[in-house]
Amino acid sequence: MAKKTQQTKDKRNGAPSQAGVRVAQFFKKNIYVILMIVCILAIATMITVAVVVNNSNEGEEVLKPIGSGDSNDDTNKPVVTPPPNDDTPVVTPPPSDDTPVTKEFILIAPLDVYTLGETFFDSELVFNPTHHFWATHEGVDFMAAAGSDVKCMFDGEVKSVESDGYHGTVVVIAHQDGYETVYKYLQSVDLQVGAKVAQGDVIGKVSETALEEVASGPHMHLELYKNGARVNPLDFMLQGDK
Ligand SMILES: [Zn+2]
Repeated sequence: MAKKTQQTKDKRNGAPSQAGVRVAQFFKKNIYVILMIVCILAIATMITVAVVVNNSNEGEEVLKPIGSGDSNDDTNKPVVTPPPNDDTPVVTPPPSDDTPVTKEFILIAPLDVYTLGETFFDSELVFNPTHHFWATHEGVDFMAAAGSDVKCMFDGEVKSVESDGYHGTVVVIAHQDGYETVYKYLQSVDLQVGAKVAQGDVIGKVSETALEEVASGPHMHLELYKNGARVNPLDFMLQGDK
């Protein structure tokens, strides 16, 4: 009677049933395998979550600029086009050492005191009192006392010095840019061909014996050439010097 009571008591206290015991035994036997599976599942879950999150982030990053970001901004912002030429540097060619520095070709008066005689007539005929005929006068006569100093009218180099009774002494000076001045009816001079002469240098004296225009009185007859063609010297002199 007492035994039966004990058994009832045990049952009443919730002693494990046979099925519960089996499950417990199964877990006990396979605890390591179960833990392993749980671990593997956990790791697999973490990897899956990580991949999914990563993919979704990448997708957002790719989509952002295409979608809401740039396209909306483009419509709102004014399109600024840089001016095409501002960035282009202005290329200034360096000054060449071979190019001589030239000053403006302006002739000074060849004599301190003079009056203008016959002037430049390269296509019109004027009467020549020496020869008593009509001819062109392809230069300018600077009337001055015999012996007056004749000055070089522009920087240059002595090209030639020639003398004869008809023309007196004739000095040719070569200047920049193809210009040449020719000074006629000078007394004999002491100039070397090739010598450098500066504007204002005395290159000779007015003669009164040269025969070509002797009837006009003592003067220096000046001619100017540009690349071999006669031009009017007065066109290259300042108004006050003529
Ligand atoms: Zn003349």
